Amino acid sequence: MKPTVILDINGVLLKKFYNSEDKSYMASIPHTCRKIDRFTYFIRDDVESFLHELFSKYDIAIYSSSTKPTVVTCLKLVMTKEQQQRLLFILDRRFTLSDPEGPEAHSTIKSLEYVCISQGLQLNQVIIIDDDACKVRTISDKNKIVLKSDQITESNFYDFILERLEEQLSR
Ligand SMILES: [Mg+2]
Repeated sequence: MKPTVILDINGVLLKKFYNSEDKSYMASIPHTCRKIDRFTYFIRDDVESFLHELFSKYDIAIYSSSTKPTVVTCLKLVMTKEQQQRLLFILDRRFTLSDPEGPEAHSTIKSLEYVCISQGLQLNQVIIIDDDACKVRTISDKNKIVLKSDQITESNFYDFILERLEEQLSR
């Protein structure tokens, strides 16, 4: 059985901004910006090769604290139909817990224990990738790769994730 990689969306597969937000800090790495309603979605060109490699090595799933419609919109922007169909599961905001200690009133927290039990996964074969340390703070270091929220604009972002995955799963 392949290890399971559970991906966050915003900050990992793309980055969502309000149209009015200052995006000037974005690095000059190849990317596309897609505007939908009030939002601009920053998508790295290399997300395609990243996902191709991920799907070839791991079972892939999604765990996002966005609402279902946003998750659907975002996945369409970065994944092929076939990739979306291959996803082990897609968990949206409804499957997060509200976080009373979180920085904002609507803050959420992700439970890997819940995911493993509900999806029948072995904890030692699961890694979650997220750009929000607060949301995954109850998850053991062995089971997570935490990125900085603006790291997606760094030139080696996806190589960094792939390397960290290899490293962490070989332990
Ligand atoms: Mg995120």
